[in-house]
Amino acid sequence: MFMGYKNVSVERRFIGRFPHGSDLLQEINKLITQENILSGEIRIIGAVSKAVFGYYNSESKNYIYISKDEHMEILNCIGNISVKDGKPFAHVHITLADKHGNAYGGHLMEGTIIFAAEFVITDYGDNKLERVYDETTGLQLWNI
Ligand code: ZN
Repeated sequence: MFMGYKNVSVERRFIGRFPHGSDLLQEINKLITQENILSGEIRIIGAVSKAVFGYYNSESKNYIYISKDEHMEILNCIGNISVKDGKPFAHVHITLADKHGNAYGGHLMEGTIIFAAEFVITDYGDNKLERVYDETTGLQLWNI
């Protein structure tokens, strides 16, 4: 069992805006692959025109997909970056609000379409973090 932590420092920080009408998770993956970020952090606010997010069922050990086909605010979208199968991998969660202020959220999936998205992405440099399969949870967790 792995259970630990390490000290990291910020090597680079990117701020920017993802394009209207594009897929949020795909845009994140494009940037972290392009910049080869092996450990880091993601923060995004903005709005989406529709969303797909997941809920991890701990008994069946798979994701239940939840879709919302409406304009919503991104109240909070945070994630971490590590390495999975040798490539930069983003694990991202999103909280959204509808026109009544009701909040929904979960594990960000492809199919979430950007209305506007402002991001801050932090790179912790060479402090590479790798994901390995964890039998207890059925998830690919940090090897730390
Ligand atoms: Zn998750």
